[in-house]
Amino acid sequence: CGIVGILGSHEVSPILVEALGRLEYRGYDSAGIATVHDGRLDRRRAVGKLVNLSDLLVRDPLRGKAGIGHTRWATHGAPTESNAHPHRAGPVAVVHNGIIENFRELRAELSAAGSDFKTDTDTETVALLTERHLAQGMPPVEAADATLRRLEGAFALLFLFEGEEDLLIAARRGSPLAIGWGEGEMYVGSDAIALAPLTDRITYLEEGDRAVITRAGAEIVDDEGRRANRPVRTVRAEA
Ligand code: GLU
Repeated sequence: CGIVGILGSHEVSPILVEALGRLEYRGYDSAGIATVHDGRLDRRRAVGKLVNLSDLLVRDPLRGKAGIGHTRWATHGAPTESNAHPHRAGPVAVVHNGIIENFRELRAELSAAGSDFKTDTDTETVALLTERHLAQGMPPVEAADATLRRLEGAFALLFLFEGEEDLLIAARRGSPLAIGWGEGEMYVGSDAIALAPLTDRITYLEEGDRAVITRAGAEIVDDEGRRANRPVRTVRAEA
């Protein structure tokens, strides 16, 4: 339902939760974040209000300057902690808005190939497919692209990888995504409102776009893989 991502210069956990808070108006049943710290990917998730996630993070902090977050409005699978995003498979974590329409077919294929499903969501297929591509030796961007080629439906996705503290991959197909430009920091949100206190410089992804984001900026390709120049707009902040 709500997506945020940050490549920051400070600890990102509290900033991710705060950004998710600005997406609360969309409604949600659970929330979670994942970060990479000292190369290691880790996540925390909680059912119910964001305060439950904040409380969990007090008891069990998540360090790191790169991270992704999600508020979920369940479409596939009950609103439980294990079905909450980010979904992880080995070295990759993903957050997802929307629906992967062909998830049953992908699930059957992945199960037949030995992948182990731990959730009832359509989203987990995205993580497991990407894990498989990484295991085949593809670097992260290639692995995510190979995954995106297999997906049908309307969605927005954000990928975070173990060992990669300066990389987010974002894809827009049917669900909006905005990239925010900071000073040596970069942000992603399903709504520019999520990023309002962080930056007013926003690039909206267009339908079919995929972005490779580092602290140095964002490189965007269109649905045919051609380099795309999307404008950076100054958006009126209404924090
Ligand atoms: N279809 C996904 C799920 O049920 C994403 C839902 C959402 O957009 O929050 O987990």
